Amino acid sequence: MSVRNSAAAGLLGLLAANCAVSADTAGDQAANVLAHDIYKQLIEINTTDSVGNVTTAAEAMAQRFRAAGFPAADIAVLGPNDRKKNLVVRLHGSGKHKPVLLIGHLDVVEARREDWTTDPFTLIEKDGFFYGRGTLDMKDGDAAMVTALLRMKQEGFRPSRDIVMALTADEEGGCCDGVDWLLRNHRELIDAEFVLNQDDWSVSSEHGVPQVAKLVATEKAYADYQLIATNKGGHSSVPRPDNAIYQLAAALGRISQFQFPFELNSITRGYFEQLANGIVTGEQAADMRAILRSPPDSQALQRLSADPEYAAVVHTTCVATRLEAGHANNALPQRAQAVVNCRILPGHSLEEVRQELIRVLNDPQIAVRYVADNGEISDKAPERRALPPAPLRPDVMKPLEVLVAATWPGVKVVPYMAVGASDAVYTAMAGMPTYTFGGVTVDRDDVRAHGRDERLGVAAFYTWNTFFYRYVKAITSQ
Ligand SMILES: [Zn+2]
Repeated sequence: MSVRNSAAAGLLGLLAANCAVSADTAGDQAANVLAHDIYKQLIEINTTDSVGNVTTAAEAMAQRFRAAGFPAADIAVLGPNDRKKNLVVRLHGSGKHKPVLLIGHLDVVEARREDWTTDPFTLIEKDGFFYGRGTLDMKDGDAAMVTALLRMKQEGFRPSRDIVMALTADEEGGCCDGVDWLLRNHRELIDAEFVLNQDDWSVSSEHGVPQVAKLVATEKAYADYQLIATNKGGHSSVPRPDNAIYQLAAALGRISQFQFPFELNSITRGYFEQLANGIVTGEQAADMRAILRSPPDSQALQRLSADPEYAAVVHTTCVATRLEAGHANNALPQRAQAVVNCRILPGHSLEEVRQELIRVLNDPQIAVRYVADNGEISDKAPERRALPPAPLRPDVMKPLEVLVAATWPGVKVVPYMAVGASDAVYTAMAGMPTYTFGGVTVDRDDVRAHGRDERLGVAAFYTWNTFFYRYVKAITSQ
């Protein structure tokens, strides 16, 4: 609580001058009570792909907007089937600028009661944390978005552009990614000048001390490839050299030894510049400066690339994730297959990487096919590519920097490329610059998203709730 209030007080002067938003402590407290209520409701609606229902969560939120007086025409619950409906809500602005779109997913990763200390589908507050599936990924962000819109409506706030919010299905997997589906079927409902995606935990801390606030302005593309070696097999008492398992294993060995070329873009360049400028120190900082030179220092690059986290920022990566082979203990394998998962740097297409894998495998007997998100397999991969980074718009960056400085003194906003993938990839590909920022502080070594006993600090949740409301208000007051 104290964190929240001091942050709010600190913001008063800064924002009143800069962004025409004034602090309202009583309003913040009421909004936090509401946010908690929404958070609890969302966590306690199971939205997993296996047995959950996203529509139930979308409907529950729609009901809140109806009750708050949003016209029926500004609330849409729609999707490809009964379990995967998305919610789109619009708060009308003055029309001075084109709309801003807020996105967040309602679905969560599977969670089994027997793996957890507490029931994953009950919100439990204990030892300063909220526990439950989705507490961090990302029903916290969903609650902050819903709360902010309800609060703005209640205040009669008239933004300078429409604020559209989409709460969606299947970001974590499943048949029907909601952002993709909305873009294909109802683009007019969610069309916007730019997009704010809340799907992240952007303020990383160490032992509770915030270090850096990452703003994701570009993402790697995601692709799965299937590798298959086949031959006629036979009796295992007479081994032959053309063994499908050996063949595939050798090919996978070549992939494990291969490194895609080093590449920087405007975002990753800025990222290393900022890190070297006081966030990391010593040889690591020197190495970062050395790879920014042209040409990059090869030894510095080798040292940095030895750290898997940095390697993933400067290279396309491919890694074997599944393996299956043989049909009997006493038979030569007729078939061996593997899945290789790749994370592709902006600018390169999925088909380009398939061709590169074929070249590296260097074995015409091994088929390399593309596996789509829905499991469909095809001989060629899409020409789709992650787009070059979005421009760092001042109307997005400035309020963010002001709020971050006021909320976590001494913490800088660092532009970042996500090495994983989120729904931002769809909105970015649709031509809407997308910025991902989830303003929660989480210790670097305590990120439990997708894992057991997922949790988020209680103070972090409330700070983010207030932060988000001020952020969106600042952006839409300009
Ligand atoms: Zn997520």
